[in-house]
Amino acid sequence: MYDIAVIGGGINGCGIARDAAGRGYSVCLAEMADLASGTSSWSTKLIHGGLRYLEHYEFRLVRESLEEREVLWAMAPHIVRPMRFVLPHHSGLRPAWLLRLGLFLYDHLGGRKLLPPTRVLNLTSDAAGEPLKPAFRKGFEYSDCWVDDARLVVLNARDAADRGADIHTRTQVVRAVREDGHWRVTLRDLQTGTERDITARLLVNAAGPWVDRVLDDSFGRNGARNVRLVQGSHIVVPKLYEHDRSYIFQNADGRIFFTIPYERDFTLIGTTDRDYQGDPAKVAITPEESAYLCAAAGEYFKQQVKVEDIVWTYSGVRPLFDDGASKAQEATRDYVLREEGAPEDGVLVNIFGGKLTTYRRLANAVLKKIETALGPKGPEWSGSKPLPGGDFPVLDFEKRLVDLKQRYPFLDEGTALRLERQYGTLVEEILGDAKALSDLGRVFGGGLTEAEVRYLMQHEWAVTAEDVLWRRSKLGLRLTKAQADALEAFMVQLSSYAA
Ligand code: FAD
Repeated sequence: MYDIAVIGGGINGCGIARDAAGRGYSVCLAEMADLASGTSSWSTKLIHGGLRYLEHYEFRLVRESLEEREVLWAMAPHIVRPMRFVLPHHSGLRPAWLLRLGLFLYDHLGGRKLLPPTRVLNLTSDAAGEPLKPAFRKGFEYSDCWVDDARLVVLNARDAADRGADIHTRTQVVRAVREDGHWRVTLRDLQTGTERDITARLLVNAAGPWVDRVLDDSFGRNGARNVRLVQGSHIVVPKLYEHDRSYIFQNADGRIFFTIPYERDFTLIGTTDRDYQGDPAKVAITPEESAYLCAAAGEYFKQQVKVEDIVWTYSGVRPLFDDGASKAQEATRDYVLREEGAPEDGVLVNIFGGKLTTYRRLANAVLKKIETALGPKGPEWSGSKPLPGGDFPVLDFEKRLVDLKQRYPFLDEGTALRLERQYGTLVEEILGDAKALSDLGRVFGGGLTEAEVRYLMQHEWAVTAEDVLWRRSKLGLRLTKAQADALEAFMVQLSSYAA
């Protein structure tokens, strides 16, 4: 009998599993596909207060989010990094005084200790003005953070497991029924087709955009809609500029979009907002969205961005709490928890909405409900302990990278940076005492070695080449189809030996 069963291995499910396991509850988490294969790997990857939400008076959400920036940075300084955002002033759109006011609040609402404050930019002399059209002469620059979203999920899962949680991937929750004061939950292993039951005192439905579908299919409900599915898409193009800052641009339709330096050689552009009705697993960028993002960037950059320049796209579905807003972009980004049932019957906690940025606060709020239902165990702790590989001071990243390059001089610049970012202090578990790349076994391309693949399969639940190339890393941007096929064949072979 588990204390808690969690449905869904996105950021919310994994964050709750980590927090609960760390307090001493017994936890089982089931994810029907790969960890972070849902919305949590399709985000813009910002740990941000959300400047735009101030316009909707979401002050609590913005304050909580701003505070989380430095908490998450300290917990995971390898995968989280501070980023400066340039906001050019556009005379036809929001007035400068409004932007100034918003940024003043942003600087002072909460939690900023190490991140530098807002400053005014002269775009005619600052390097940030160079790639922009000459009409943009003035702007502002402020701080937020950036995170590798998929790795944030996996590291929460890893830490949860290290603290005793059972994490099952490729495992779908197909049925949940109340029985003698607890839940009987049927898990289907999607690789073998076999089913088995587990029991838990409390159930958390953290299925993101599938949350209503889980209520219908696994709990036999009648189709009530709690979340509004809003598609957001991104395009990736060869890098548009040399400096390391991002831009936040306002569009004539009132929307904003970002351009972000991405994986050293690329620029990430997004996002869109459109209501979505289909299966969240099948969402894909539309030609209109690609054209919209290219045209939007073309309004600001001297260099035109053409659809033919796009090297990769991704699309995800936001599971926003349905607050009845008329436009998709106006629906709240806040989270809502709904609890059902008394402790003696078996409690169900449903999660609607939320953001990557606030996942830890959401988990804390869920834990309060769990404590009420099951009785308290340990105190709040999740913000004070590092995620795996993140146990070093936030300002030491560059120093650690120099050390890594000295210890392993055979690593090329890009691979050293990638490994330090992905694994932090755990990088030695992969590199060991290797003196040459060939000491790490087969090389699949892009600096990916057999030693790393084995590590990902043993410690991070990677099963397929796609898990490795698009979620544990973004090496999918660099490997050819033939290299990816070779990796897949190797992983199949390794799994069959293990079986
Ligand atoms: P998910 O990540 O979707 O996880 C739910 C999981 O449940 C899935 O992996 C799914 O496979 C699993 N599941 C479903 N049904 C079952 C079942 N029956 N059994 C087992 N498992 C099941 N937030 C930010 O803070 N910053 C941003 O910059 C940002 N940008 C965004 C941009 C876009 C385009 C989008 C779409 C979202 C963005 N977000 C951002 C929001 C953030 O990504 C989401 O709020 C968050 O990832 C939701 O996480 P989740 O765990 O609730 O859902």
